[in-house]
Amino acid sequence: MQEKIKKAAELIKNSRFCIVFSGAGISVESGIPPFRGENGLWNTYDPSFLDISQFMSYPIESWKLVKEIFYDFFGEAKPNKAHQAIAELEKAGFIQKVITQNIDNLHTEAGSKDVLEFHGSSKELVCTNCAARYSKTIVNEQEVPLCNQCHALLKPDFVFFGEAIPEPAGSDSFAAGMKSDVVVVIGTTGEVMPACNIPYYAKQNGAKVIEINPEKSNYTTQITDIFLQGKATEMMERLYHEIIQT
Ligand code: NAD
Repeated sequence: MQEKIKKAAELIKNSRFCIVFSGAGISVESGIPPFRGENGLWNTYDPSFLDISQFMSYPIESWKLVKEIFYDFFGEAKPNKAHQAIAELEKAGFIQKVITQNIDNLHTEAGSKDVLEFHGSSKELVCTNCAARYSKTIVNEQEVPLCNQCHALLKPDFVFFGEAIPEPAGSDSFAAGMKSDVVVVIGTTGEVMPACNIPYYAKQNGAKVIEINPEKSNYTTQITDIFLQGKATEMMERLYHEIIQT
């Protein structure tokens, strides 16, 4: 493994534009379960409450689950050592951008500055009618949060099933993927469209792909150049020390 860490560190140190592409797995060690897999959220919850038409038709039932999962439970989570190592590597000039599929805001909380949230974020709510924005604290004040200005339903500022990817984050993420010469893919199965295409486009454009995941993903046998099989915190800490010390 140390040889692989060394090779990955070399690639990052010699890169011109290195990006991180993260998924739910990077936040598992912060206490947030992924959607899929053994301990995934979809084993407990029916994902249909995150369908936009279901949410609009049954706001009381949907908001109950949205609050329970994304605010009461996820809200307790703090960035872990993987998020922190990425933020430090950005500060030191080795990582240029983070593209995350996550909506938990943990990259930004860890100190990363250049973050594209491909699926939006839970930190704000947006009015489904007039697009007014509210801090997430409103979820503790109203059972079904409504807009102060037009009284329409508020929803979290992340994409629900059936909604378009927020812009400009979507286009900027693909542009960053095309510009990159090294992509560090962390904790994603690579199953969620269209985000999952970013590492493939990067690879087609000549980028090297480093992947961190305890399990093989859709990328591993297709495009991964260096597979660091393991947990995000351990692998990112080892990579960080190798990059900074050598
Ligand atoms: P996924 O749930 O499909 O897969 C999670 C991946 O993480 C798996 O490949 C798994 O092997 C890996 N993993 C598990 N533990 C890990 C660890 N300690 N370190 C590194 N990797 C680990 O996740 P996905 O591919 O990101 O797709 C799910 C979608 O759901 C995404 O679009 C994401 O926005 C959303 N989601 C977000 C959060 C969050 O914001 N934290 C949580 C759940 C789901």
